[in-house]
Amino acid sequence: MEYILRSENIYKQYENHLALKDVSINIPRGEIFGLLGPNGAGKTTFIRIINQIIAPDEGRLFFNGEKLVASHIEKIGYLPEERGLYKKMKVGEQALYLARLKGVKQEEARKAIKYWFEKFDLMPWWDRKVEELSKGMQQKVQFIITILHKPELLIFDEPFSGFDPINVNLLKEEIINLKNQGTSIIFSTHNMNSVEEVCDHIALINKSEKILDGNLGQIKKGHSSQIFSLQVSHPEKPLATLLAPVAKLLSEEKHPDGLLHARVQLEAGNSANDLIRHILPFVHFHSFQEELPSMNDIFIKTVTGKYPQELKKEDLKLHWELNAEN
Ligand code: ADP
Repeated sequence: MEYILRSENIYKQYENHLALKDVSINIPRGEIFGLLGPNGAGKTTFIRIINQIIAPDEGRLFFNGEKLVASHIEKIGYLPEERGLYKKMKVGEQALYLARLKGVKQEEARKAIKYWFEKFDLMPWWDRKVEELSKGMQQKVQFIITILHKPELLIFDEPFSGFDPINVNLLKEEIINLKNQGTSIIFSTHNMNSVEEVCDHIALINKSEKILDGNLGQIKKGHSSQIFSLQVSHPEKPLATLLAPVAKLLSEEKHPDGLLHARVQLEAGNSANDLIRHILPFVHFHSFQEELPSMNDIFIKTVTGKYPQELKKEDLKLHWELNAEN
């Protein structure tokens, strides 16, 4: 696999806190990479190191196979979590100014800004001051400024905080478009479920260490809880009886449409095919689907050894922390 960015054995110590401990993360080219972990895990520290805002104490970084140096910065677009625009400056003028700072030619910048302002319904605000815009609109402007110079690598730190669901979807769509045009993208967020549908790869960071990384689909498959949801009709016997000994019935519910909706868990040593073969002669199948754990579940399982539904009350604190909005 080709990597746009490789990092090897990164350490970063703040005065009294080791923020990154032996972190090695590789970012595949042309994909969306989720950097996931609770607040304080070390994600922003890692991103600041990539952006060369701070230097690691130990470790090596490579951009496109070359040792990471200052000249790579122009190929990286960074939307930090703490965002700031000049409040008193007009919106269009500011976007142009910032684009010029990043080396985009005047005419090209104007054209690109117009294109994006139209897409994001910002055109009527071109000559208004930034302070007159809502927080969401200001964030859209910052998003546009971040991507305008067409960086090879885009880094978004908590990109969806402060956006309503409609705008979250709009941004996700645009981010997927950018990927389809060949841009490599890093998402950093503590809200793991907010990005999982767009990420190809992820790394989980907890307490300064990488605890898991890889292809999202493979990670999910690897954490399969062997639970399936199925919809059937006309069972010839009670479902629990039909399922034994291949699977056990976790729950069932008869819906008004006449279908029986059930959740079942495979017994050890059986596959989904075994299950289907076993009950097929005695039911009509309407649907069959594996329930894959959420990224949040996988994080909790990796840290605590248990899925959230198996956790005791006191351990659930971690679950709430991860699901808190900010
Ligand atoms: P995340 O982005 O995952 O929330 P950060 O990288 O921002 O985590 O922070 C990791 C830890 O390092 C936190 O405990 C934070 O308080 C600490 N930290 C971050 N920046 C500094 C700094 N400049 N000086 C001292 N400690 C810091």
